[in-house]
Amino acid sequence: MKFLLHPSLQAIPRRLPRSRRVNLVFRLSALILLLSVLEAFYHSQVSLSIPRPAEHHNLDEPFSIGCQDVSKLVTRPRESAVLVMLARNSELKEARKTVENVEERFNKWFNYPVLFLNNEPWSEEFVRGMKEVVSGEVRFEVIPEGIWGPTAGLTEEVVGEYLRKQKEEGVYKGEIEGYHHMCRFYSGEFYNLDALKEYKYYWRLEPGVSYGCSLTYDPFVMMADRGKKYGYTVALWEEPNTCPSLFRTVDEFRTQNNIPMHPNWKAMIDEETNWLLKPAPIRWLLGKVLRREHYDIKGEKWNLCHYWSNFEIADLDFFRGEQYQKLFRHLDKTGGFYRERWGDAPIHSLAVHLLLGAEEMHHFSDVGYYHEPFWQCPQNAKGKQLLDNEMIGKAPKGMGEEQEGGHGCRCECGLGKKGDWRRRNNRGICLEKLQRPAAYVRPSWWDLRRRRWPYSVGFDEEGRYVM
Ligand code: GDP
Ligand code: MN
Repeated sequence: MKFLLHPSLQAIPRRLPRSRRVNLVFRLSALILLLSVLEAFYHSQVSLSIPRPAEHHNLDEPFSIGCQDVSKLVTRPRESAVLVMLARNSELKEARKTVENVEERFNKWFNYPVLFLNNEPWSEEFVRGMKEVVSGEVRFEVIPEGIWGPTAGLTEEVVGEYLRKQKEEGVYKGEIEGYHHMCRFYSGEFYNLDALKEYKYYWRLEPGVSYGCSLTYDPFVMMADRGKKYGYTVALWEEPNTCPSLFRTVDEFRTQNNIPMHPNWKAMIDEETNWLLKPAPIRWLLGKVLRREHYDIKGEKWNLCHYWSNFEIADLDFFRGEQYQKLFRHLDKTGGFYRERWGDAPIHSLAVHLLLGAEEMHHFSDVGYYHEPFWQCPQNAKGKQLLDNEMIGKAPKGMGEEQEGGHGCRCECGLGKKGDWRRRNNRGICLEKLQRPAAYVRPSWWDLRRRRWPYSVGFDEEGRYVM
């Protein structure tokens, strides 16, 4: 170092007495520290901050407050849409439960077709069993060969080795090859099925889930009306060990395709990771040198938030479109669906936050939904239950109370029995973060402290309605 300094400067340290030298070093360190803190503060609070929508209102609101007069809505034309369920023959009982429930709460009025997908031929029993409960057209399709299966180029041995390793590491369902196939299928190949070509929207169903409220309007028509391309219910954290390199790989696609850090993408970045400790050189170290899990190359960390894809109402044209398919191929090429256990849920979520605007996404907060072990259940809208509407019919016995500010229709969430409050769709876990780009009305820090939000998805621990 000494030899790099200009001779006149080399003389300075020697000319200073020792105490002054220590003092200088101390001051320089303090200055560097201060600049680092300022830089990190600026980065997290300004560069990564998410502005409120320029439109001066929330970009996403509930489609309906309470029940609608379904007899008027069913006379309107339907959208081109389908309810889809991937299932195994062995899941007949659970699949029937879901379909009966959806028919009762929605489809008996709207009669959308239901499409069942399987990687194996359907059993007669399954076909018969489902035909009995679907009110509209029902279709049974077998996924064509070559679509369900490992990424091209991965040999049996390699996949076997990956699965063994994931078993050792305790990756959730990491050792089940079929589960990897399912995640890869739903992440990309699903959208190119011939069986889906004629439709614009799909609603994904799963065996064994339950819908606790009535949907007395057509969600597909609403999606089209409001220009929505992705609809979700529950948002939560992904299991970290299923996808250590996923965020880096998606971000790589972002930079290769010159997609800027727009607000909807920033919603995926964990801005809370201790800005005091993350000035530029540390970010560089974490992202580029150490290549830490869940970091991109620039050292931004994913907050691990994603929407649970077992419920989805979405636009097929978006997912079969060029950009999404290109992203899927980019991810698939890396082998991550098998080397790690990337779920279709985080992939869909990262993709929509990368490729869509916040105004194109919709939270179905009026939908009561339970998929083991998480749930969301809105409070029933006061005075909007249309209890004497003939077409909607009788109210369910266990229907919850009506509340000011609620927006559910005849919700019956059975929370008495399975009401695990820690497992509700808590706005404080991920919803609040993911919805920031769409939120003009945001909770103040005081609201946050009291866990009060602009609109409801459930109750807090004391059974109070959370708004
Ligand atoms: P989880 O919700 O992530 O725990 O996963 P599930 O076991 O519920 O699987 C998700 C969906 O994929 C469900 O609709 C299952 O019926 C379906 N599925 C999973 N594995 C297979 C499989 O090997 N074959 C078929 N046909 N369906 C599968
Ligand atoms: Mn499931």
